Amino acid sequence: MGQPIPTPGGWLYRLRLVGGRVSLLQLQKIQTCLTEGKLEITRRGNLQYRSESLLSVRVIEELQDVGLVGNLETDHLRNIMLSPTCGIDREAMTDLFPVAKRWEDYLAQRRELRYLSPKFSVGFDGGEALSIAALTNDILVRAMGENCCQIILNKTIGITVSSTEVINILDHLAHLYLEFTKLTDTQPRFSKMIASYGIDRLGQKIEEVSIDRKSMPNAHLGLHPQKDNDFYYIGIFLPLGHLSSLQLAQLITVCHRYRIPEVRFTPWRNVVLPFVHRSFSRECCQILSHYHFSFCPPPLAISACAGKDCLASWTDTQTDAQILQYSLADKPLHLHLSGCAKLCAYNSHCDFLAVGCAPNRYYLYHQQQLVAEVGAEELLTNIKKFL
Ligand code: SF4
Repeated sequence: MGQPIPTPGGWLYRLRLVGGRVSLLQLQKIQTCLTEGKLEITRRGNLQYRSESLLSVRVIEELQDVGLVGNLETDHLRNIMLSPTCGIDREAMTDLFPVAKRWEDYLAQRRELRYLSPKFSVGFDGGEALSIAALTNDILVRAMGENCCQIILNKTIGITVSSTEVINILDHLAHLYLEFTKLTDTQPRFSKMIASYGIDRLGQKIEEVSIDRKSMPNAHLGLHPQKDNDFYYIGIFLPLGHLSSLQLAQLITVCHRYRIPEVRFTPWRNVVLPFVHRSFSRECCQILSHYHFSFCPPPLAISACAGKDCLASWTDTQTDAQILQYSLADKPLHLHLSGCAKLCAYNSHCDFLAVGCAPNRYYLYHQQQLVAEVGAEELLTNIKKFL
C-alpha cells in the first residue's frame, strides 16, 4: 500500500499482493480494518480500497503486521504477478512463487529503489496452463525447466539463467533502472530505459551478471534462502568492517532470540547470520534494521589499511576513511586509503587512492594519476574537485 491517491470521492489505496494471494488471516484483517469503503480487484490481481476518509496509522500498521503492506518506502514497487494457479497447476514446469516472494523480500530491503516508477512490474510464469506471460510486465521471469529460467525484457530479449540467479539479475536490472531514473527529473518507465540502452547492450549486461556471480562480493547481503528451504541466511553490511561492542551485543541478542547457532564473518568484512528459520526471517530483519544494521552497501566503496595500528603508517587511515565515508556515502566511487606506499589491503583498481607520505599527509591519486599532496583534512575537498 503506497501513498493514498486522492479521488473525487475521497481516497484510493492499493493493497499489492504477491500473485494475488492472501491468507485467511490476512483476509480477516482486511475484513476488520477496511470496513467503510469499497474493495475492488485490479487488473494486476491486487486489491484497491476506496474510502471517503484516510486510513489511520494504526490501521496501516495492522495491515503491515500481517504482510499486506510492505515497507512503506518501496511498497509501490511490489507489482509482482503470478498465475492464480501457480503451485497447483498440473501443467506447470515449476512453482515460481518462492522466487517471487524473494523478490518481494528484496524490495522491502532496498529503500534506494524508492525513486523508481510505481509502474515497475515483474511477472513470474511457471509454465501454468493459466498463463500470465502475455500480460503486461516490464520483466517476465519464465520457467524453462525445474531449475532454469529465462529473463524476458520487452517481450523480445530472453536470457537463460539458473533459478538461483534470478534475484541477482533482477537486482542488477533494478539498479540500472535506478541509475537511469536519477538522470531524469521524472520517473521514466522501464521501457524507456530499454530504449535508451538498446536491447543488445542490456542483454549483454544481464549475461555478464549471470556468469560473473563470484565477482559480486555483495551478493550475500540481505535475506537469502538456504539450501534447506526452512532456513534463510541474512547478510549484514558493516561499513569498513567495523563491529562496535554495542553491535556485537545486539547480534548476540538477535542470535539468542531467534536461535541462530552461529555467526559468519566474510572476506568482504561483513557478517552472515545463517540458519534463521523462515518464520522469523522478516522479524529478524526488522529487529536488525531497528538496531541500524544495513543490508546493502552505500554506493561508495571505501577501504583502508590498518593505519595507525601499524608502525609504518604516516596517517590514521581508519579515521580518515570514516570521515570520507560519512561525507561521500551517496557517491558511486571506489576509494582506498593506505598508510604508506606498501599498499597492504589494496587489491583492486580505485577511482581514488590516497597513500600516506608524511605525518598526517597523503599523496592523492585519481584514476592512477598523482593529482595532489594534501593534509588528511584536505582529502575531501580535493576529491570533490573531481566529482
Ligand atoms: S600499507 Fe603501510 S601503513 Fe598500511 S598496513 Fe601496510 S605497511 Fe602498514
